[in-house]
Amino acid sequence: MSAGLNLAQQEAVNFLHGPCLVLAGAGSGKTRVITHKIGRLIQTGLEPKRIAAITFTNKAATEMRERAKGLIGKAANDVVICTFHALGVRMLRQDGGVMGLKPQFSIMDSADVTGILKDAGGTTDAATARQWQWTISLWKNMGLNSEQALALAKDDNERIIAKIMARYEERLTAYQSVDFDDLIGLPLKLLQEHDEVRLKWQSQLGHVLVDEYQDTNATQYEVLKCLVGDNARFTAVGDDDQSIYGWRGATLDNLRKLPQDFPNLKVIKLEQNYRSTSAILRAANNVIQPNPKLFPKTLFSELGEGEPVRVVDADNEEHEAERVVARIQSLHGGTDAGSCGFKELKDFAVLYRANHQARIFEKALRKAQIPYKVSGGQSFFDRAEIRDLCAWLRLWVNNDDDPAFLRTVTTPKRGIGHQTLASLGQFASQYKLSMFEALFSNSLPSVLNARALGSLHEFGRYVNDLEFRARLTTGAEDARAFLTDWLKDIGYEKHLYDAEESEKAAASKWNNVMEFCDWMAQRCGGQIDDTAGVTSGNEVKNLLEVAQTIALLSTLTEREKDQNVVTLSTLHASKGLEWPHVMLVGVTEGMLPFKLDDEPGTEHTNDNIAVRLQEERRLMYVGITRAQRSLSVSWTRKRKKGRDMIAAIPSRFIAEMGLDKDTVKEDPREKLKALRAEFAQRASAASAESAAHK
Ligand code: ATP
Ligand code: MG
Repeated sequence: MSAGLNLAQQEAVNFLHGPCLVLAGAGSGKTRVITHKIGRLIQTGLEPKRIAAITFTNKAATEMRERAKGLIGKAANDVVICTFHALGVRMLRQDGGVMGLKPQFSIMDSADVTGILKDAGGTTDAATARQWQWTISLWKNMGLNSEQALALAKDDNERIIAKIMARYEERLTAYQSVDFDDLIGLPLKLLQEHDEVRLKWQSQLGHVLVDEYQDTNATQYEVLKCLVGDNARFTAVGDDDQSIYGWRGATLDNLRKLPQDFPNLKVIKLEQNYRSTSAILRAANNVIQPNPKLFPKTLFSELGEGEPVRVVDADNEEHEAERVVARIQSLHGGTDAGSCGFKELKDFAVLYRANHQARIFEKALRKAQIPYKVSGGQSFFDRAEIRDLCAWLRLWVNNDDDPAFLRTVTTPKRGIGHQTLASLGQFASQYKLSMFEALFSNSLPSVLNARALGSLHEFGRYVNDLEFRARLTTGAEDARAFLTDWLKDIGYEKHLYDAEESEKAAASKWNNVMEFCDWMAQRCGGQIDDTAGVTSGNEVKNLLEVAQTIALLSTLTEREKDQNVVTLSTLHASKGLEWPHVMLVGVTEGMLPFKLDDEPGTEHTNDNIAVRLQEERRLMYVGITRAQRSLSVSWTRKRKKGRDMIAAIPSRFIAEMGLDKDTVKEDPREKLKALRAEFAQRASAASAESAAHK
């Protein structure tokens, strides 16, 4: 298990019988230590099921299991590799009975919790309930119950929330359910108050490994202590400079406490970064340098100087998105110096501060027909309402798209029931027809009653009519009118208001629908300007053509989920991951760092502004250190503030990166134009090929 490890990593992997902390900067191989150590422990005879490796996300757990399988084969399946929360579920299902919890307890998701809190606090306003939810969650993460929260409440508002918390807890108990935070809090209670359960888990687990230790919260640390007991056989790996979940209760105290609570703690530092070029690493080190140091560390790379970090300025977010797309197009397909292959779409990541920033990049990528996935937040195009509309577009473009047919025929409901659709489906598969084709078959009346048949025919004719009219609709104005009529015909707005529990939620969905339609209409009118100036012009298109490109990409993106696609991600969700080419966007003062004295409901003392600035700086550090070979950082001269656009300046972090003055210029337009044409050709060849394989 020591192949591919440096000496310090080997030391960490071979230190088996006590508490071990690997403290090191980004990309220095901490996660690699964990996977190799799992292998080493098994090699020394520890049964796989007696090893628990705790990751920060479910996705990280899946990846770690895959890597462990690569090292040790099938044995990796029996290792407990999961998040703290998933481990909590396992403990409660096995042993929660001693606390009166049934093994089949249910786990409330965030929407359920909001609902219960509305009821417990006597409000109909979801925003207020979510505010309570947030506070209660923070308290739970600090290990406080409602009585303790009440005793510590610092004002009337907190006292009210603490009382609501008590009623909320009663309801959860009555429903035999737990919330997300209970998945940590209740196992802790279980371990602390039931000696036999604690001893059972301590003897069951021979070694516990924790990745991303810097982002554990106080309760998780207590769980860890209970699980490892006096034997204290554990390995925690972390980086204080990457602690970015303070706002959710994570605390660096856990790093400070470790040497005090475990005096025989073995601390190992890793100093070589294997991920990034020197140019990227230098920028990262410079940015993090002003933060106070918990433990001093140095980090170097032997991957060579590499390309300089690019700083890109854009007029506004749309322009920024065009430039990002142009860069992907200009690099994609070229060879990567020093690596063996072509630059593929999965080599690119666009990282931003907040979820809502994704939208503009999604639209620009769609327009350029570049498949992508959004992690760490919901994609605009993944929202139920947008998927509903895309299903209609897909059906216009391809009547044989059965999933699209099923979605449109039932959304909004048009009196065509499950039984009718089941009969239609059976009939279609018997005659090897698509469901839409089957609608018009002469033999269909034999399996359906006249009323059902009538409704289906009406639907079929309506879709055909829409398709026909969409082909004749060109220009923004006509497209807008067409889309408005269509939504009215199908009663989509009413459907949203009937289905949503609050008017606010329905209104927000309807806004998204309007935004989507407006975007389509603008594309019909050729009004979506190509700021990078690399297409031949702004041609007017008919609505069916626009639907075609959108529908193609919906299917492409769906099929290529998690495969060879560009990643769009929040900085928070990018933790632990790496990509050859990273574009950090929205590095504009006020976005990153987030405007620190502007949040309602927060106290703005100089102290807490300084603490939050440190966390913002760590976030920037996390972003920079995701890049392996190239990094570009962009900012915009205008940024959105609420509904307004305000003038903006580059983030202070750009200056702190200590780059040379000469910011890299954009590629010449002519070259980009040629590259874009070449890319479009490649994309259509690839989609023709994948269609042929379908
Ligand atoms: P982060 O702080 O971002 O979580 P990390 O410290 O966990 O980073 P890893 O993800 O484990 O770092 O490793 C970074 C990259 O370096 C990975 O691609 C990994 O395979 C590679 N790597 C780590 N150690 C070595 C080594 N000894 N030799 C070669 N490559 C290595
Ligand atoms: Mg890691």
